Amino acid sequence: MPLPMLVGNWKMHTTVEEAVALAGAIRARLNDPADVLVVLCPPFVSLAPVAQALRGSTIALGAQNMHYESHGAFTGEVSPRMLQGLCQYVIVGHSERRRLFGEGDEVVNRKVRAALRWGLRPILCVGETLEEREEGKTTEVVRRQVERGLEGVGGCHGVVIAYEPVWAIGTGVPATPEAVQEVMVEGVLRALAGLFGEHDALEVPLLYGGSVTPENLEGFVRQPAVHGALVGGASLNAESFCAMVHILEKVRG
Ligand code: PEP
Repeated sequence: MPLPMLVGNWKMHTTVEEAVALAGAIRARLNDPADVLVVLCPPFVSLAPVAQALRGSTIALGAQNMHYESHGAFTGEVSPRMLQGLCQYVIVGHSERRRLFGEGDEVVNRKVRAALRWGLRPILCVGETLEEREEGKTTEVVRRQVERGLEGVGGCHGVVIAYEPVWAIGTGVPATPEAVQEVMVEGVLRALAGLFGEHDALEVPLLYGGSVTPENLEGFVRQPAVHGALVGGASLNAESFCAMVHILEKVRG
């Protein structure tokens, strides 16, 4: 059974100074949780200063994106080689990257493979749009995104999957816990079992993301196939983020 996990995606928020202060406030409130994997994903420019602020703590660090090449003429990009040693996780295929920056399953797959090659744990985001949901294609879309995202990956050790329905991200309208459980089982776990076998599939941490708050987190993590959450907006406040860590500790720790 995977350890419970809470990931904060700070997106394009916080200056370096604000990021260090937020990480410090989270660290001070958490007292190094042993039963929950806590991962903070600040903007690139804050990774090193936040790493410094978290030195000696059990809180892990993740990047929000990366290029799949290790180096080269890719102005403005950040490579897995640069992230290695600086953070342990990297978010890959977030719907904002897919939608606003045109990243398709092939690019996402290259990033997943590059992350694993460089010893980073990819948090692969999958999820259907509102239109796909209304057409009844949720499970099919999620299964396909998992299969394509993990194509050619030798094993699922190190992989984390975040199911984030696009229509639920940043909207204040989360999915229902029961619907998330169903997508995890019929979409994510089926795809993982097909690729890596049932035994290994059950080792992969499965996160829900989409308008998660301290008020609704418990419903999600009480579902057997939901091990934690990927949180955007509510991760920018130390008090609410830490409240969610404590909920996770209580329910699944
Ligand atoms: C996200 O950024 O992945 C996310 C789920 O955002 P929010 O929690 O704000 O919906």
